[in-house]
Amino acid sequence: MTGFSLNEVLRVKAGSLWGGLMDKKYYEKLWHTIKDEKKVFTDVIQNHRKNGELFTSTINIYPLLDEDGNSNIFVATQRDITREIEIDRMKTDFISLASHQLRTPLSGMKWFLEMLLGGDMGKLSKEQHDAIENIDKSNERMIALVASLLNISRIESGRIIVDPEPTDLVALAQGVIDELKIKYDDKKQSLIISADKNLPKINLDPKLVRQVFLNLLTNANKYTQEKGEVIIFISQKDQDVLVQVSDDGYGIPEQEQRKIFERFYRASNVVKKETDGTGLGLYLVKAIVESSGGKIWFKSQVDKGTSFWFTFPLKGVKAKKGEVSLS
Ligand code: ADP
Repeated sequence: MTGFSLNEVLRVKAGSLWGGLMDKKYYEKLWHTIKDEKKVFTDVIQNHRKNGELFTSTINIYPLLDEDGNSNIFVATQRDITREIEIDRMKTDFISLASHQLRTPLSGMKWFLEMLLGGDMGKLSKEQHDAIENIDKSNERMIALVASLLNISRIESGRIIVDPEPTDLVALAQGVIDELKIKYDDKKQSLIISADKNLPKINLDPKLVRQVFLNLLTNANKYTQEKGEVIIFISQKDQDVLVQVSDDGYGIPEQEQRKIFERFYRASNVVKKETDGTGLGLYLVKAIVESSGGKIWFKSQVDKGTSFWFTFPLKGVKAKKGEVSLS
């Protein structure tokens, strides 16, 4: 992986082979984690091969504790992920290409289906009308899927415009709640919001944050049985605003929880119950939250319910002059 032979690395300080890519502060943090906190240090870093070529790798440094709990020995592993990153980039490019190419014919179909349904090409019998309506619904689903794919490729390529403005998170959440009211009413579910009254406005991009609320609340509605309850809490915690979205629905099986933010992943307990889903929503949510300097995590228990938490820094996000916004 590094191009060095055993003789070249034996008894040589690991850091000196790393080509000086990390600064002093970085090493201080590394030592603090393994020596003082006695925790595993994990990161993705850029490294030099012997021939000077750059490669990307994950590193894990494990402290080994002696009987007194001191850590003087460490085991470090490094894995070259250059090729994985390349493959991931190819996936992103493919998604981008496919979604761009699919958008135009789908809009064309939508246009003609609407004309047909509106009677522009003559009156339809009830059967014909029902059939076209079905096609139209499927077409809308495909349009939504393609929009998600486009958003993903836009986020991944870092071309998204971030246009922050002082945003009232509670009002924004309320707007999304109003939008989803019909869906919640259909399943006779309650949707309550409880928010800290003194919350200041935060400099965030309302379009992006809206997408976060929309996806989490749509999921809570989809993956909760009739008459279920969904609650949103918005509070201030240290330097962050903390939002919690809790439902008492189907939950996520424990062994699948680590995959839930991956692209296209849908948990086995819901795929049959709720066919309408792409497995892209949470991936997008995570990307938005993290690109805004926030964090997201969840807890879930099957048939008991799921809670998602996410934070945004109170100081807000910086503007970014991208090329595109989310569809
Ligand atoms: P989608 O809803 O389109 O399938 P998401 O990325 O939004 O995609 O969610 C991925 C998966 O995570 C869902 O398919 C479901 O298995 C699980 N999930 C998400 N939110 C919840 C929730 N509130 N309750 C139970 N499962 C959930």
